[in-house]
Amino acid sequence: MILRYSTDIVIFGGGIAGLWVLNSLRNAGYQTVLFEKDSLGGGQTMASQGIIHGGLKYALQGALSSATEAIADMPSRWRACLDGSGELDLRGTQILSDHYYMWSNASLRSRLKTFLGSKSLRGRVEAVATDRYPPFFQNATVSGSLYQLPDFVVDSESLVKTLASKQRGAAFSLPESGVSFEHSSNQEDRVAVFTHRGRKIYIRAKRFIFTAGEGNESLIRAANLSNAKTQTRPLNMVYLKQRDLPKIYVHCIGDSFSLTPRLTVTSHQDAIGETVWYLGGEIAECGVGNTEAEQVAAAKAAIKKEFPWLDCSSAEWRCFTINRAEANINNNHRPDEAFFLKDRNILVAWPTKLTLTPALAEQILQNLIADKICPSTKDMDRISEADFEAARLGDSYWNLEKSA
Ligand code: FAD
Repeated sequence: MILRYSTDIVIFGGGIAGLWVLNSLRNAGYQTVLFEKDSLGGGQTMASQGIIHGGLKYALQGALSSATEAIADMPSRWRACLDGSGELDLRGTQILSDHYYMWSNASLRSRLKTFLGSKSLRGRVEAVATDRYPPFFQNATVSGSLYQLPDFVVDSESLVKTLASKQRGAAFSLPESGVSFEHSSNQEDRVAVFTHRGRKIYIRAKRFIFTAGEGNESLIRAANLSNAKTQTRPLNMVYLKQRDLPKIYVHCIGDSFSLTPRLTVTSHQDAIGETVWYLGGEIAECGVGNTEAEQVAAAKAAIKKEFPWLDCSSAEWRCFTINRAEANINNNHRPDEAFFLKDRNILVAWPTKLTLTPALAEQILQNLIADKICPSTKDMDRISEADFEAARLGDSYWNLEKSA
């Protein structure tokens, strides 16, 4: 049996990028459906630390680029969404911390002072007086300096849930047999082809949008696109769980002002109420290839060095590897902006960072408008759960107990 559907937009990949674009295009009137291969958010999005950056990491490099300026707007755009007055309504998403901090050991104090006075950082970073330290840092047994950044932290799981809750009936599970692409009769555009429950289903769309993170590579191959290139950067992320851990949100910066802090800590809660410290930064980048025992030992040493006053003797430690997936532009250069590329009726997109997703969705919408792709005024064929199963929600990694 053969079924044929037409719709405005079909998205492949239900992480933050796909879900945000789905919400934004449907709000703009486009008839849009999304296919997710595994679980909504279950790729990089649930693995992310949820930090909505204001670009300090780039500014620390000294230069004020257009990327630094683009990212500097993001915290206020997100905050508007979170309080219901922004481009999307993200009310219901949990804000884990309204502030993000930077902790430095004493030897850096004089260099930091020079940096903080520099034009690129002025007004973005505030030294915190010791009597205003969050409780955990008030107990510090080593001298150090604490700075407050314009960044804040969201809970990725509730973010995905909020975005998905408005899209029931529009987010489907990709059939196990996957998707292939055939040329349409005009030989230019592609048509998506699925085989599911013994049926062949053809979906014609004005635009297909690939937001599949690491999965973009196989979609690019399936659609035979020659000019889209991808790259991945592996990370070996560590988390520790202990019921009474204080909640902290902090970059620990090392001796060099590199783009990557020595340790980046965010705090979360698992399904049974234990506090989870989630560790990224240099430890995750440099620990790729370590065994679980080696990586956990490295993380324990790093925590002891930064926070010698912390008692985490009863913590349970785990790690897992995850790839960051990005566009490969200019020969393996790390992009620092959201990026998409168009090949006839296909857009391949990467937000580059969770933070930059609003910018990606805006760029995609602007591109549709520029190409005169308008929302269909007549009700098109309804793809429904009679054809494909509904996509399921992902879970935080510490609830899945994934390990290396
Ligand atoms: P993903 O979240 O990976 O989603 C892609 C989805 O596509 C997945 O659900 C996958 O199952 C699905 N898929 C794959 N193949 C197919 C297919 N063929 N068809 C359909 N679906 C498919 N950014 C920040 O701004 N702040 C942070 O604190 C931060 N921390 C991070 C920490 C880690 C450890 C990592 C890895 C990244 C972090 N990032 C952070 C970056 C941010 O998480 C990513 O840029 C963002 O989540 C990417 O979203 P995405 O939707 O493009 O990809």
